[in-house]
Amino acid sequence: MDINTDYDVIIAGSGMGGMSAGAMLANDGYKVLILEKAHAPGGCSSSYFRKGFVFESGATTLIGFDENQPLWKLEKETGIQIPRDEITPSMSVWLDGEQITRYKDREQWIQECVRIFGNERGQRAFWDEAFKVSDLVWKVSLRNPFFPPQKLSEWGQLPLNNNPLDVWVLKYALQSVQDVMQKFGVDSPKFRRFVDEQLKITAQSNSAQTPFLFGAAGLTYTNYSNYYVPGGLLEMINTIRSFIQNRGGALHTKEGVEMITREGGKFTVQTKNKRKEKFTYNAPIVISNIPVWNMKDITAGEMSNYFMEEASDFDEAWGAITLGIATNDAYPENLPLHNQIHLNDGETVPYTNSDSVFVSMSKAGDTMRAKGGMRTLNISTHASPERWYSLNGKYDEAKQQVEDFIVKLLQQKLPGFADAQIEVIHTATPVTWENWVYRKKGRVGGIPQSMARSLLKWTPHETPFKGLYLCGDTTYPGQGIPGVTLSGLNVYSRIKKNHQ
Ligand SMILES: Cc1cc2nc3c(=O)[nH]c(=O)nc-3n(C[C@H](O)[C@H](O)[C@H](O)COP(=O)(O)OP(=O)(O)OC[C@H]3O[C@@H](n4cnc5c(N)ncnc54)[C@H](O)[C@@H]3O)c2cc1C
Repeated sequence: MDINTDYDVIIAGSGMGGMSAGAMLANDGYKVLILEKAHAPGGCSSSYFRKGFVFESGATTLIGFDENQPLWKLEKETGIQIPRDEITPSMSVWLDGEQITRYKDREQWIQECVRIFGNERGQRAFWDEAFKVSDLVWKVSLRNPFFPPQKLSEWGQLPLNNNPLDVWVLKYALQSVQDVMQKFGVDSPKFRRFVDEQLKITAQSNSAQTPFLFGAAGLTYTNYSNYYVPGGLLEMINTIRSFIQNRGGALHTKEGVEMITREGGKFTVQTKNKRKEKFTYNAPIVISNIPVWNMKDITAGEMSNYFMEEASDFDEAWGAITLGIATNDAYPENLPLHNQIHLNDGETVPYTNSDSVFVSMSKAGDTMRAKGGMRTLNISTHASPERWYSLNGKYDEAKQQVEDFIVKLLQQKLPGFADAQIEVIHTATPVTWENWVYRKKGRVGGIPQSMARSLLKWTPHETPFKGLYLCGDTTYPGQGIPGVTLSGLNVYSRIKKNHQ
């Protein structure tokens, strides 16, 4: 058997978590091999081609480049320049016939909230607190690469890395967003609906279940610089891929990791490609960018038991229904690229419990995504994976029903869509997602925030098996491109500390 020993680090999965760790390591001279089971790299932050158009696989909004945020650090350390254009305002929320513009400017945003929800004093106090908490959370997150602490020495490091004056923020780990809304007197039914759906896309949870510590960052997402990647997020991944390759690394697509074992201080990684050819690699360091739920199936013995135990704490997560639609450009010029559309109060998308859908559009004139004056739309909504796996013969009918419902909803509520001609439309369910990015049960978007889980209980980046690390949205700090980038940066810091 040929064993390839060319690489210092093997990374399983090319999501943004794995790509970030890979870029930082390649920058320091490590020879990195990234193994990706799918046809294209990037996982949930990638793009795919269909009938001449480019659609986003999952993520569409992009933040994290402002000072003290993870992609800022990634670019600063490596010199990588991710191609991007700022978009402002980045988002509108459509609620009960009103357009709520999510202005980036903080004062303008507070004024918008006052216009829609009233209560100037309460709204101002709530948002001022959210901005203060969020700015500090970003800063502190980057300053503490060994969080959650896993060793006594890392606990000891915490007071040295942090300013004692910042300790006030920790109380918000124990208060939900809803608690804080009540404290500032802004917990009206309308504001709660708005906040719950905004948190659903950033925290995978609602105001009652999201600690304000995390929720503040989720709610103020649009008040940081938001970006658009011409051609789609695959361009971001390809930029990082080229950087790694230029430094002697490699990324193999269509080659899935089948088994990771450890013997004599080295890891053996067995893989299989789409032609069923098998390969074996040896390396002292392995990073898994694969969800913790998948890990027990690609490890054995003690390792498998560890991952089974770790995953049992996170037995609930969302799946997604996503649609890619290409139409002619019938949209008003000033329509933001991202739109969250609320259903009428009490209504839900069929076969889901979702009260809203999220619609992201390609920029007018982005001919890399859509040629000839066309636009592409990526639509997503939350769905329970379990429900989609138990439709017993009704799957196709359910999928069609959801597609028809969403098209009708857009005709009613997305300006311009009723006049647009649909050229391409296709729908993906959690079942499709599992076949696409191989995430168990098609669970995407990481672990939903919960008041029952302390910050310290997130799956850590270092495993008990020396040299085996985890990143991605089922590890601290959770979902989203900036979140998984931070997980990749943290894995890099641990490797630098542990393997001199
Ligand atoms: C519909 C949707 C919308 C979203 N919207 C946003 C948004 O607007 N903004 C935002 O910031 N975030 C958004 N997110 C969340 C964000 O996309 C994810 O949290 C993030 O991209 C996950 O990155 P990751 O590093 O955890 O890995 P993933 O993206 O999950 O990548 C893991 C990779 O591992 C590969 N893989 C799996 N098994 C194997 C194996 N055995 N061997 C080799 N490779 C394997 C997969 O194919 C995949 O490419 C969205 C997610 C979804 C699903």
